[in-house]
Amino acid sequence: MSATQISTSPLHQVANDTSALMDIAARPPVVFSHGKGSFLWDSEGKKYLDLVQGWAVNSLGHAPDLIAETLAEQASRLITPSPAYHNDQSVGFATALAAASGLDEVFFTSSGAEANEGAIKLARKYGAKAKGGAYQIITFTGGFHGRTLATMSASGKLAFESLFEPKVPGFPKATLNDIASVEALIGPETVGIMLEPIQGEAGVIPASLSFLEDLRALASQHGLLLILDEIQTGMGRTGSLFDFMNAGIEPDIMTLGKGIGGGVPLGALLATKTASCFEYGDQGGTYNGNPLMCAVGSAVLDAVTSPGFLNTVSMRSDTLQTALETLSAKHGLGKIRGRGLLLALDLKTPVGADLVEAARQNGLLINSPRPDSLRFMPSLTITEEEIEEAMTILDTVLSTHGSMTGS
Ligand code: PLP
Repeated sequence: MSATQISTSPLHQVANDTSALMDIAARPPVVFSHGKGSFLWDSEGKKYLDLVQGWAVNSLGHAPDLIAETLAEQASRLITPSPAYHNDQSVGFATALAAASGLDEVFFTSSGAEANEGAIKLARKYGAKAKGGAYQIITFTGGFHGRTLATMSASGKLAFESLFEPKVPGFPKATLNDIASVEALIGPETVGIMLEPIQGEAGVIPASLSFLEDLRALASQHGLLLILDEIQTGMGRTGSLFDFMNAGIEPDIMTLGKGIGGGVPLGALLATKTASCFEYGDQGGTYNGNPLMCAVGSAVLDAVTSPGFLNTVSMRSDTLQTALETLSAKHGLGKIRGRGLLLALDLKTPVGADLVEAARQNGLLINSPRPDSLRFMPSLTITEEEIEEAMTILDTVLSTHGSMTGS
């Protein structure tokens, strides 16, 4: 079936009545049915150029042949033997991921929050075993680590503050790019420091590379674990396989999600040999390391590390940054933030939601992580022509909404 056709099979018939779904977020009044590469189609057959890509998830675009073929092949071989047994796909993928990251051991999860929940547990275990019961993990204002109770507690998102009280204790908040604020929070109960190298949900706010270096030095000096949440930045998103590589540092623990599965539910918790201190019974889960997802993870890792791939990501990033700078200058907007293909445009005024809706109506999907910013997180395989097409639509939208943006 071509990507532009909508299947008439009853299995694929699209229901536009969404009332049976819990209404947990404001969503536009469309139902998507299929996608290919940088494009998505809704149930009415309207085509969209997608620079959201599952929330920085589809590293190889929508429905890539590589993932479809890997899933089909693996599904006919072995889906889940039980987490009580090893399987060839999780062994192979863990070995490859450890080699690619420089970390030693891997625990696979089904989501980013689950990987972070595991990282928090691992740090607390390390504190119990090696640091006299220390359990506090310094996290950051503006940070986002997921929606389990512990990861919401670790997050520094304002909107979470009053939710689901009482929170899980032990996450004092420092200020990103302010090393003194981190140092001031270190005490006898501190076991680690946890952050996203680029705060994605806060609006693409990068930790500076020198701040990451300083954090590494501070953590080592105090015997603390440096925990990097690379769920949004990892797997090539910033032009390096992992963003910590841009800073030339090494974390003790790293979490991955989103891009690692190219769209399938997969995450990972990685640790150095020293930090990897779980004992039997501490960690587990039914789907952890299932071969169906791990086969896809291996295929995505192979693709992202194939010769020239990351170089192309950096080149596309340059193209997108330059185009956004041109649009920003033309429409009197602010700076571009981010690294690689995780970029944001500062709008200077809180018109993000209106621009996102106007762009959608014009066939472009973008996101506004905070009211005064637009975020761009396209497929890592986006082409120069697709970037140009996206910028043409955005230019039209900004011109039409000039009075809103003040241009
Ligand atoms: N950490 C970061 C940095 C994220 O961006 C996200 C999701 O947006 C998460 C954790 C949570 O991942 P998931 O939604 O897969 O649980």
